[in-house]
Amino acid sequence: MEIDSIYEELGISRNVLDFGTKVEAELKTRFEEIDKNAEFNQMKVIKAMQDNRVSDIHFAATTGYGYNDLGRDTLEAVYASVFHTETALVRPNLISGTHALSVALSGNLRPGDELLSPAGKPYDTLEEVIGIRESVGSLKEYGVVYRQVDLLSDGTFDYDSIKKALNEKTRLVTIQRSKGYDTRPTFSVNQIGELIAFIKNLKPDVICMVDNCYGEFVERIEPSDVGADMIVGSLIKNPGGGLAPIGGYIAGRTDCIDRASYRLTAPGLGKEVGASLGLNQSFYQGLFLSPTVVSGALKGAVFAANVYERLGFSVVPDGNQSRHDIIQAITFGNPEGVIAFCQGIQAAAPVDSFVTPEPWDMPGYDAPVIMAAGAFVQGSSIELSADAPIKPPYAVYFQGGLTWYHAKLGILMSLQKLLDAGLIVL
Ligand SMILES: *Cc1c(COP(=O)(O)O)cnc(C)c1O
Repeated sequence: MEIDSIYEELGISRNVLDFGTKVEAELKTRFEEIDKNAEFNQMKVIKAMQDNRVSDIHFAATTGYGYNDLGRDTLEAVYASVFHTETALVRPNLISGTHALSVALSGNLRPGDELLSPAGKPYDTLEEVIGIRESVGSLKEYGVVYRQVDLLSDGTFDYDSIKKALNEKTRLVTIQRSKGYDTRPTFSVNQIGELIAFIKNLKPDVICMVDNCYGEFVERIEPSDVGADMIVGSLIKNPGGGLAPIGGYIAGRTDCIDRASYRLTAPGLGKEVGASLGLNQSFYQGLFLSPTVVSGALKGAVFAANVYERLGFSVVPDGNQSRHDIIQAITFGNPEGVIAFCQGIQAAAPVDSFVTPEPWDMPGYDAPVIMAAGAFVQGSSIELSADAPIKPPYAVYFQGGLTWYHAKLGILMSLQKLLDAGLIVL
């Protein structure tokens, strides 16, 4: 059977497939580069597992207090080896990226301390954690002062203003690697390293924390390789490899991670407790698969950028730019384009492909939001997914794909929906 006929059975017409095939053929070198990074990172993960003598005993479930949970402790040692940190906290009871970031911040900040974001406004959900938006239980309520230095108009760091904002009360600097759902560029690990060096030169004792969400295994080095004291992320994004059903991590300097652990559990208890309830195997196996899964997601993002750029839409990053996270933004300029795109992503999913996503008024947002997610794990954004607020400039943010082939089908299906709606001509 020819490959065209299986695509046809899925609802992809010949002209859409031909268009996609042409674009894909031009991406050979890009894809080879992505594969080489995946190979490097795969070896890094295997080496870490071997060095820590991972064994099937580590997959056993623990319950209750979880004292001497060998699987949990070894998994944390593996994360520390992969990220080249002193230690790590990798837990199912860090229930999301936001929670992990909140624990890292509140564990390491004390009343009267200042928190500085030298890279502009952080991710939306952190506004309430910090108290940028009034919120019960925020760091602001505990007397932590927040300062922010915006990026310069070209997306680079405003070093002069950062220097002025640092003072004797600055205890922690938070740097977000990924643009998230913003329009600024994502920072490379080297750019983050330069920023940390600049800050540490002025104030050596400040804690530099990096929100590493969506960045893991995109490059060969991580922010912890260039001076970050803590890196933080979600296991239902890159490092969970699609298999982790929940979880987050904080990796870094022992004193920082200990303080975070006292906040996660209780002072005096810290990392010593917390049963892993049988989730360890999926954490290990997900981490093992993560470099390959991330490479598939990256190919999907690069493919989407090139497909939509060729059709005249504005895309961030553009088709040729180097990648530092797995998110792709595409601006359609009208609600119909955004909706058709998301409906295509949904229609290509292995789960819930038969439902049609519609914009709705989600709590906390100032415009209706449409989301496409046919995921095995609820809200997992290492799986192929797309979100868009229905407001100008009508941009959609798309990421993930557990395999390159699925990401490709998603993009082809989005093209098909746009074509069927008369919104593009091929
Ligand atoms: C996803 C994300 C978060 C929050 O993670 P959740 O798991 O959705 O809570 C924080 N920062 C960035 C940059 C993210 O992409």
